[in-house]
Amino acid sequence: MNDKDLLRYSRHILLNEFGVEAQQRLADSRALVIGAGGLGSAALLYLASAGVAHISIADGDVVDLTNLQRQIIHREETIGHNKAQSAAQTLRAINSEIDIEVLPARLLGEALEEQVARADVVLDCSDNFSTRHAVNRACVRFRKPLVSGAGIRFDGQITTFDLRDGSSPCYHCLFPDRTDAEEERCAVMGVFAPLVGIIGAMQAAEAIRILTGIGESLMGRLLLLDARTMNWQTVKFKRDLECAACSREHAPPSKEQEYATT
Ligand SMILES: [Zn+2]
Repeated sequence: MNDKDLLRYSRHILLNEFGVEAQQRLADSRALVIGAGGLGSAALLYLASAGVAHISIADGDVVDLTNLQRQIIHREETIGHNKAQSAAQTLRAINSEIDIEVLPARLLGEALEEQVARADVVLDCSDNFSTRHAVNRACVRFRKPLVSGAGIRFDGQITTFDLRDGSSPCYHCLFPDRTDAEEERCAVMGVFAPLVGIIGAMQAAEAIRILTGIGESLMGRLLLLDARTMNWQTVKFKRDLECAACSREHAPPSKEQEYATT
């Protein structure tokens, strides 16, 4: 780290738990962020400003006027542009020292696996079940820590599946996929703007703590926020030994099965 880095990140380095070592770990790390919407906006802004040196952003959508109410990484002038590209533009203006990779498509199949395999931490900031399950399967396969957030109406949730640890539950243990599962989309349901910022910032906090080894992750704890009252609830959960996604009792799914829902 040079003098400029020491100055830029000095408020981290001053923390007893952090120091130069943890900051250096961020400089050696790669985070994969799936989705540059409301959750991704807050998560990406903190990852980039905090000095995570390699950030890959995947999003196939374009910025729309209705996104600007809560997707704070985008600007009026990037309406109509790809969200990953728009997000990268903002991040480069904040921190020109880091490397940002734009993946302007919905990651599927091998492309998703390739990205997960090279990441040190994966943040699921997507808005649909099929992406969440596909990202989970890739993280199970490559044993990557997965920080999962969601927000709709006034309801938020966040947890971490630290799949480096064999005892960690996966997303599928908590939410077994059902073909009849009803999607709750912001477009129909509405969403309280700061809710996705709160959850997205927490996803960044989790990712940074995982990359640096500071504290204790949310593994096995699901936090639920009711933003009408600001009440938080903690639900503890365990690995499902029969889980179709992570149980060693099951044969690994075939490629067809694996990507059937994507
Ligand atoms: Zn599982």
